Amino acid sequence: MMETIHQELITTEFIPYLSNNDINVFVLRTDKIHTVISGNKWFKLRFYLDEALDLGKKRIVTFGGAYSNHIVATAAACIMYGVKSTGIIRGEKPETLSHTLLQAKHYGMELVFISRTDYKNKLVPQELNSEENYFIAEGGYGATGAKGASTIHYNKEKFDTVCCAIGTGTMMAGLINSQKAGANIVGFSVLKNHQQHEQEISALLKGQDKEILIERNFHFGGYAKKSSALINFMNELFVQTLIPTDFVYTAKLFYGVKTLIDKGNFSNCKNLLIIHSGGLQGNLSLPKGTLMF
Ligand SMILES: *Cc1c(COP(=O)(O)O)cnc(C)c1O
Repeated sequence: MMETIHQELITTEFIPYLSNNDINVFVLRTDKIHTVISGNKWFKLRFYLDEALDLGKKRIVTFGGAYSNHIVATAAACIMYGVKSTGIIRGEKPETLSHTLLQAKHYGMELVFISRTDYKNKLVPQELNSEENYFIAEGGYGATGAKGASTIHYNKEKFDTVCCAIGTGTMMAGLINSQKAGANIVGFSVLKNHQQHEQEISALLKGQDKEILIERNFHFGGYAKKSSALINFMNELFVQTLIPTDFVYTAKLFYGVKTLIDKGNFSNCKNLLIIHSGGLQGNLSLPKGTLMF
């Protein structure tokens, strides 16, 4: 039997290592709620799953790559909600499945591999076009996902700046929709040359006039790309703070925040919150011994 989600385990921790005389830096540990459905993924999935059950759907179908946190989180969440799951995976079936896909399979997800071209064109295999299936977009992108992300709870009164990683931008949209007036939500993109973030995020916003602040200089070469500087930073951060990060999203976020603070950015900020959005399972694709946690 699958354990449940433990929202009550989310803590807000002060990080002296990233703070200075002017700025207090804290981290919101949403990674603690569950080892697999970690961080933002459950928040983004929760209302999709509720809606699927309300509609009497029997199977959730969603999309992702071989290392997708969204795929494995969906697989695990579907077991918890008692519904079947199918993952449409980008690319031909590899000889050995990634750890992520093995884990998704372990949670009962049926994996369907389609060519990169078909994936790009969102060509769903005919047999999945059934009334009984409920479709969730890649990465959980959409207004229902943003509504879920807006339930990520933190002390709205305390923080004037909230920093998060962005893939699809769904989490950021939810954070913007639920922010306190006057606070800044800053998104750190993990994609290279992705110009559509603003458009994709603003499509999910409730108010029209909200500013979308995006940092684009910390993608380290693009999605799931890494360098030894990033790996060294992850180990250093862990030694200093005992906070584990993932190399795809949260390490780039923490690195970006630290760099900007060291450069004297965020000068009007007093209390800054970093959203630790989970994703630690992704580190299992790194060679053993790369990380000290
Ligand atoms: C999926 C993911 C994100 C990105 O969330 P979006 O809503 O797609 O922008 C950020 N951090 C982690 C750890 C993730 O797994």
